[in-house]
Amino acid sequence: MKPAPFRYLRAGSVAEALSALAAAGGEARLLAGGQSLVPAMNFRVARPPLLVDINAIPGLDAIRPTDGGGLVLGALVRHAALARAPLVAERAPLLAEAARHIGHRAIRNRGTLGGSLAHADPAAELPAVVVALGAEPRLAGPGGERGVAADAFFRGPLLTALDPEEMLVELRLPAPALAWGFAELARRPGDYALAGVAAVLARGTPPRARLVAFGAGPRPLRLPSAEHVLGDAVERVGAGGELDVETARRAGAAAGADVDPPSDVHASADYRRHLVAVLTERALLGAFDRLRAERRS
Ligand code: FAD
Repeated sequence: MKPAPFRYLRAGSVAEALSALAAAGGEARLLAGGQSLVPAMNFRVARPPLLVDINAIPGLDAIRPTDGGGLVLGALVRHAALARAPLVAERAPLLAEAARHIGHRAIRNRGTLGGSLAHADPAAELPAVVVALGAEPRLAGPGGERGVAADAFFRGPLLTALDPEEMLVELRLPAPALAWGFAELARRPGDYALAGVAAVLARGTPPRARLVAFGAGPRPLRLPSAEHVLGDAVERVGAGGELDVETARRAGAAAGADVDPPSDVHASADYRRHLVAVLTERALLGAFDRLRAERRS
């Protein structure tokens, strides 16, 4: 199908994009990679009267290190750049790993970080990962710029804290985690995952686990019971110890009970719950294998 008629504006700056959004009274849509918006328009699920293309805005694709060991990623950083950039590999390797699981090469070459976060598909990888990393999306709007904790940014399926007249301009990431793991299961390579889990052992005193499931509910879901099971074990790991397989298994079992996933044509709720348990265990074991290898090198 073809989209309903729309007007098109190629914005040259964030200010120009914001004034176009404001002038359209909340009816316009930003166009980033177009990998979710354009199919929705072609199916006429979305019928924006105005598309504001942000691809020509200078600097929005920047990847910058911060003094504290963190990273600032522009909204237009493509999934392919996340997967390949040495600075992302060094400071946010979980983000690089997750980006490799998104769709196919053509989609990763066009799709953007900002578009994926703003679209807020509950089965998408990047929203869950930025919650696990404790990142902060920065939103520009008519009243200036504000930051929102990633956990509060995602409100439901395709629903975020963005107002219709706001634009996500960048994502701020803290210093690298102590350890990380990622596991997902998709029916075929390139498909959205049936479910997945991002695991982060965040630095701090004491260090804490942040486990987040995707494809298992209306938004990226923290797994509080599983995090609780890991409590003392994570402190031991922070002090140079290791996680035993049995603790990872108990955390997985708790994670399964933390979610109430939907059933659909691809998988039943019970199967998805089982997946969250198994994938939590796998993500944790991956995190500890990686940490062990780092400590040896
Ligand atoms: P667009 O499609 O341009 O925009 C999406 C929405 O976000 C629109 O409403 C737009 O107005 C809004 N938006 C865009 N940028 C901003 C911004 N800076 N500020 C505020 N609002 C903004 N995704 C996955 O996560 N995992 C997958 O496995 C996966 N598989 C896919 C398979 C196929 C066949 C296809 C077509 C897509 C798949 N995707 C998948 C989606 C892909 O990752 C998209 O790139 C992503 O969801 C949206 O990014 P985009 O840059 O293309 O955004």
